[in-house]
Amino acid sequence: MTTIAFIGLGAMGAGMAANQAKAGHKVLAYDLSPAALERARGQGCTPAGSAAEAVKAADVVITMLPAGQHVRAIYHDEILPNARRGALLIDCSTIDVDSARAVAKEAQSHDLAFADAPVSGGTAAADSGALTFMVGCDEASFTQFEAALAPMAKAVIHAGEAGAGQAAKICNNMILGISMIGVCEAFALAERLGLDAQKFFDIASKSSGQCWSMTSYCPWPGPVPAAPSNRNYQGGFLTSLMLKDLKLAQDAAAKSGATTPLAAQAEALYALLDRLGAGGQDFSVMLQLLRGKLPSQGVE
Ligand code: NAD
Repeated sequence: MTTIAFIGLGAMGAGMAANQAKAGHKVLAYDLSPAALERARGQGCTPAGSAAEAVKAADVVITMLPAGQHVRAIYHDEILPNARRGALLIDCSTIDVDSARAVAKEAQSHDLAFADAPVSGGTAAADSGALTFMVGCDEASFTQFEAALAPMAKAVIHAGEAGAGQAAKICNNMILGISMIGVCEAFALAERLGLDAQKFFDIASKSSGQCWSMTSYCPWPGPVPAAPSNRNYQGGFLTSLMLKDLKLAQDAAAKSGATTPLAAQAEALYALLDRLGAGGQDFSVMLQLLRGKLPSQGVE
């Protein structure tokens, strides 16, 4: 049995920690929120009094936190000074590449193995143990990280050296954010042209307009029953999180000198969507903004 310190038991971390416990591991769980700790206890984890306390006893440390500043701080203050020799350290949060590389460097100076391992898949995949992990670490230590992530994973892919997992994550979500807007614009235009939405879907999903945003996550209610568009855009991948990921992509583009004009437009549009009150809805609600049908539009 492996002892795992799991830090950050929010929308994603709760299910991920529970899946480690289900796999028979001892999970020492920590979150700033007492309610999150109680929920973790109910799912087979053992609440710890602090991150440092959990880390001291752990073979594997997993963090699932909001942003780069949280990850940098907790690694510097609590994880690295307290981790056992030989412990594996894995950050699954979505953060900026620079922070991931800085933490990897600091871990190396403590002679500890660290991987950035952000995920694709939302809360449903976190709960069911079907996340895809993109891992940044040196080639030689990848198999150890892969084994530690397995109870939470559908796939674990080595992306490259430190920071490569985060790079893959923000590039992937940049495609998603842009492609969703393209699909939404096409449905909005089809409507104005009097084209039936289902007919358009039947054609585009078998033509060169086909993409994940169209066929797995269709923003128009109806054609894809499992898509959040059928549940008034509740659940799914929040607009606020898409905006966060596009900001990370734009920041990375500015620092690296990459040219990403469509992602810049996409970021501006998701920021507007968020500003109009749709931050807590699935990002495919973009369709309703482009149709001029967001509930908040037109209201004083
Ligand atoms: P969340 O806000 O629900 O959870 C974050 C948790 O971290 C909270 O419970 C908070 O109390 C805790 N926390 C913050 N600082 C802490 C600290 N110092 N010590 C202990 N606990 C602390 O966020 P989430 O939706 O679970 O997302 C977590 C990460 O996963 C983010 O980086 C997000 O971008 C990424 N992500 C989220 C989704 C999604 O669909 N929600 C999908 C893919 C990736």
